[in-house]
Amino acid sequence: MVFQPWHGWGKRSRWMKVSGLFALVLALTLLSCRTSPIPEPSPPVTTPEISGTVPPQIIQEPPPQGSPQVSIERLMEHMEALNHERFTDTDRQQARDYASQTLQAEGWITREQSFNTGINLTAQRPDADPNAEKILVAAHYDSIKGSRGADDNASGVAAALEIARVLGNTSAARTLQIVLFDQEEAQLLGSSAYVENASNLENVAGVSVLEMLGYTCHTAGCQQQPAGLSIATPSNVGDFLAIVGDTEHRPLLEAFEQKESDLPVTLTVPVPLKGVLSPMLLLSDHTPFWYKNVGAVMVTDTAFLRNPHYHRRSDTPDTFDRTFFQGATQIVANTTASLLEGQTSLSSSAPEQHTQL
Ligand SMILES: [Zn+2]
Repeated sequence: MVFQPWHGWGKRSRWMKVSGLFALVLALTLLSCRTSPIPEPSPPVTTPEISGTVPPQIIQEPPPQGSPQVSIERLMEHMEALNHERFTDTDRQQARDYASQTLQAEGWITREQSFNTGINLTAQRPDADPNAEKILVAAHYDSIKGSRGADDNASGVAAALEIARVLGNTSAARTLQIVLFDQEEAQLLGSSAYVENASNLENVAGVSVLEMLGYTCHTAGCQQQPAGLSIATPSNVGDFLAIVGDTEHRPLLEAFEQKESDLPVTLTVPVPLKGVLSPMLLLSDHTPFWYKNVGAVMVTDTAFLRNPHYHRRSDTPDTFDRTFFQGATQIVANTTASLLEGQTSLSSSAPEQHTQL
């Protein structure tokens, strides 16, 4: 996630200057946030009376038939391979080459798209129908200087690679494309260049931008909120997955509402007016798509509102909550599989007033 001081999500001094209108719009936005149902507590388990020390037996339900299951082992393999700074041209080429080789090994056709100062990597299936609608799963692969960027954003790249593996042979009405952006940390240069190529946007029905998926915090109050605003978060700890979308593409956003009790709770955040009055919600690669009227969501662990290692040397894989990381990736895999089936119309709704910039 790119940090722009004037955006100031979490920067109290900036937030103190937020106008009343800004606060009102955000309050309305956040009041409409929806969370997936929090699982009901399980009924108490009756332990056999023959021994007070017999542990209760945990019975896990088998995963639904046909649901593609992501692998935490594969995810962490990717994290290990990407566990280096990705700032210089050489660093970034190393990451890009790893992603490209991984995708090719799974049968994907990769292509590099150069722009002024970097290279985006795209991947599609060899038999992809060029006339079919496309679902993009995207993540940025660069990091800032001085950080290995495990959460920001090796986690998003690892998840995209794993989703490519589990959904690579899916035959559906829509086609899946993987896009790994360069230089998100340099003011969204890679995604901005990507959307300026009109052919890249042909038939794109929806975009999921994976932006930091591996971190949770579990002490009361560890989940920060923008000062002066009250977000109806699912709890006062940082254990939920946030999905940020624009109000003109609600079906895409609502597709992420999570119903499985064994996966992280999701908080869906519909943003009006393309975020023009809430720039804190524009800090990643979904933003250039919004301004091309293409439906896109940012999937995130909320970055520096939760993760104290954000943009620090300490942003390393050993800080991860592996269960959450796997669950967050599973949510994106499940949602993507559903979107690929094509039964959800993703065409944009009528633009709201005052959204033309
Ligand atoms: Zn960042």
